[in-house]
Amino acid sequence: MRSSGRPPIIVLDGPAGAGKSTVAREVAKRMCLPFLDTGAIYRAITHVMLSKNIPPSDSPELRAALGEFTVSFRDGRVFACGGDVTEVIRTPMIERNVSPYSALPALRESLLGIQRAERSRGLVAEGRDMGTVVFPDADVKIFLTASPGERAARRHAERLARGEESNYDDILEQVKARDEMDANRAAAPLKRAEDAVTLDSTGLSFEEVVSCVMEEVARVLTPES
Ligand code: C5P
Repeated sequence: MRSSGRPPIIVLDGPAGAGKSTVAREVAKRMCLPFLDTGAIYRAITHVMLSKNIPPSDSPELRAALGEFTVSFRDGRVFACGGDVTEVIRTPMIERNVSPYSALPALRESLLGIQRAERSRGLVAEGRDMGTVVFPDADVKIFLTASPGERAARRHAERLARGEESNYDDILEQVKARDEMDANRAAAPLKRAEDAVTLDSTGLSFEEVVSCVMEEVARVLTPES
C-alpha cells in the first residue's frame, strides 16, 4: 500500500516486443499521467552515435556526444538534438545496434537525469531498468513478458501494417539476440525487480493486459478504508 501523497510513478519493464509501449501509453492516458518511452531515448542516442560514426565503446568522442545529447517528445514525435527521429529509430539498423550502446555504463549514467527530470509530476515509464535502477521507489512495478514467438509475431505484424518488408524468422532471431544482450550486460541488465508483479501477456488481448495493469494500479493506489 502506498504511503506518500506525491503523484504516482508506474513502471513497466520487460523484454523486446512484450507490448510495454502500447500498454504503458494506454495506462498513462487513463491515469492522466505523462508517458515516458525510455526505449525511444536509447534508440535516439544510438541513432546520434551512428550518424557521428562513434562506435559503442567508452571514448572521449562518445562522452562529448553524450554531453551534447538532448531528446524531447512532442505531439507523439521524438526529437534528438533538435532533429525529428520518430521513424528512423524504428528501423532494423537501430534495432541491430541499440543493445551494444545501451550496455555502456557511461551512456546509461548520462541518461539517468533525462529520465528522472519530470518525475515530480508522476509518470508511467517503460523500459528495462525502470523498477530496478531509474525509479526503484516506483509505486507500481510491472514486469511484462510474452513468449519469444509471440513477441516476434507482434513486431512482424506491426512492420507489415506500416507497409515495411518483414521476415518473421529474422525478427525472432533479433528479438532473442537483443534479449540475450540486454539480460546479460553488467550495467542495469533487464531483470525483474524483486517487488515487481509479473504479467505474462502470451495469449492475452491488449485490452486484457491493460485491465490487469489497471487492477494492480487500483490495488496499490486506492487508500485503505
Ligand atoms: O523497448 P525498446 O525495444 O524500444 O528498447 C530498445 C533497446 O533500448 C533495448 O533493446 C535495450 O537495449 C535498450 N533499453 C535499455 N534500457 C531501457 C530501455 C531500453 O537498455 N530502460
